[in-house]
Amino acid sequence: MVIESREDALGQCARRLVALNERFPLPVVRTSTDAEDLLDELVYFTLRNRSARLNADAAFRELRRRFPTWHQLTLAPRCEIEEAIRPAGLVHQRAELIQKLVARIENDFPDGSYGAIRTWDDLAILRYLTSLPGIGQFAAYQAMLYVLGRSVLPVAWPLTRLLTRLGIVDQSFGPEAVLDAAASLLATGEHRVLYDNLLEHARAICTPRTPRCRRCQLSDLCAYNKRVRLRRGLAALEPMSED
Ligand code: SF4
Repeated sequence: MVIESREDALGQCARRLVALNERFPLPVVRTSTDAEDLLDELVYFTLRNRSARLNADAAFRELRRRFPTWHQLTLAPRCEIEEAIRPAGLVHQRAELIQKLVARIENDFPDGSYGAIRTWDDLAILRYLTSLPGIGQFAAYQAMLYVLGRSVLPVAWPLTRLLTRLGIVDQSFGPEAVLDAAASLLATGEHRVLYDNLLEHARAICTPRTPRCRRCQLSDLCAYNKRVRLRRGLAALEPMSED
């Protein structure tokens, strides 16, 4: 009997994840407004977290209209920030976080040189970003991937659902371990394409309640699909009834 080491098993999961790249020949067009500025992305994340995209976009636009420079926001009365971000909700909590976040970056980079973070290594960036008010590992990874072009894969909930159904993530390894291991196997520049494609697939096809398995180009690889077929007594290639 072959006993796999934990590293071998994790590596196998990571390789399965990376191989999904071949199932998505074209990169998905990302619909969100991509921030090019690190601070813009972090502030936007504070608004987007637990809010619908349209509401977060409206709040961010209004924030920028009222405060064309982030410095102006640090001097503004809290109630003005709350008013600007009203479409996103949770205004007291978010206005305080945003003001503290911007003030902290201003304090750390008084000459506005936070762009220098681009030259840091991944670990230094992650440590710094996660030390900022309201910024956890997911937000830090998002900023690293989309603004700084780093080789990371953030653990988004829809992605975890998809990978769990595929059987790539299970009780043995959390999604963080598998995604980090897969990130180290991908070539520079491949991370964002794979991440966007999988996320879009999870949102559009592998939906939470009724996954659209008949339209899924990953169905032959999917543990969940296999279990459902067995339960229904369907042959491997027989189409499943529409969900
Ligand atoms: S076959 Fe169904 S459950 Fe499996 S990944 Fe595709 S949509 Fe999700």
